Amino acid sequence: MFDLTFLGTSASAPSVRRGLSAQVVSYRDQRFLIDCGEGTQRQILQSGIGFRRLNRILITHGHLDHILGLAGLLSTFMRWETIDRLEIFAGRHALERIRDLIHGVVLRGARPPMQLELVPIEPGLLLEEDGLRIIAFPVQHRSPGCFGFAFETPSHRPFLPERAEALGLPPGPLRGKLVGGQPIVLPDGRTIQPEAVLGPERRGARLVHVGDCGSTAGLEAQCAGAEALVIEATYLKVEADLAREFAHLTAQDAAELARRAGIGHLYLTHVSRRYRTREVLAEAQAIFPAVTVARDFDQFSIGRASEADPPSVIP
Ligand SMILES: [Zn+2]
Ligand SMILES: [Zn+2]
Repeated sequence: MFDLTFLGTSASAPSVRRGLSAQVVSYRDQRFLIDCGEGTQRQILQSGIGFRRLNRILITHGHLDHILGLAGLLSTFMRWETIDRLEIFAGRHALERIRDLIHGVVLRGARPPMQLELVPIEPGLLLEEDGLRIIAFPVQHRSPGCFGFAFETPSHRPFLPERAEALGLPPGPLRGKLVGGQPIVLPDGRTIQPEAVLGPERRGARLVHVGDCGSTAGLEAQCAGAEALVIEATYLKVEADLAREFAHLTAQDAAELARRAGIGHLYLTHVSRRYRTREVLAEAQAIFPAVTVARDFDQFSIGRASEADPPSVIP
């Protein structure tokens, strides 16, 4: 189960209601900030999620509306937030710009206040920790080395309580051992194997995040069957020519990808000030009904259907 928090949902420049791109994906005690547009630290404060454990930042690409907040965030960390280690993951092209921003503007020869790692992203497995896997994949946009991210929770075999009852297994730690894959011996001498009480393997939940994107061609495989897809929708189809010119998507493009890939729920972000939210929603909904146009500070829980109710806004 993931928690997804939108901190900024505006394209290119902030609006009165929308900050620049930033989202947080949480899984158990791991948290990832995806993009860090200008003003993100204030959005973090206002959202109430706090700075704790916010020490891994994934950058989709190096355009200024996605990275300028790194300078302010680092500046704040230098003064009063203590984290031991900060890792910033980005494609090489974006990383050069981030290096200039951090070392040329913020630090200027000073020592960073924590262990600071700028990590180049290559397509493939980016991180694997506590069963969570993050896979990076290339995305077409206006600069080289743009990436999307697929977050996957581990597959598991569900515990079948009716089987446990039938075998006379008492509730408690013995059941926990079986779930952990260990056989147990009951007080009456019977040995029970995990297979006796576990169902067939179920894949984990999948959350896919695509930042700015000029074409959805080839993204179906990465998005296929995901519980949730977060993706930009900068334009409406009436201005599809502008979308192509600036390598962005229309709401229709995003919804068509969602439909082709058979995802669970579509979250649109990177919304332009030139349209009303309900126009963006209507264009996407005509093609893919399970869609939300994200607003700043929206939070969603995302998991397999059996893990939770369908995604819903947490007030
Ligand atoms: Zn952008
Ligand atoms: Zn961009």
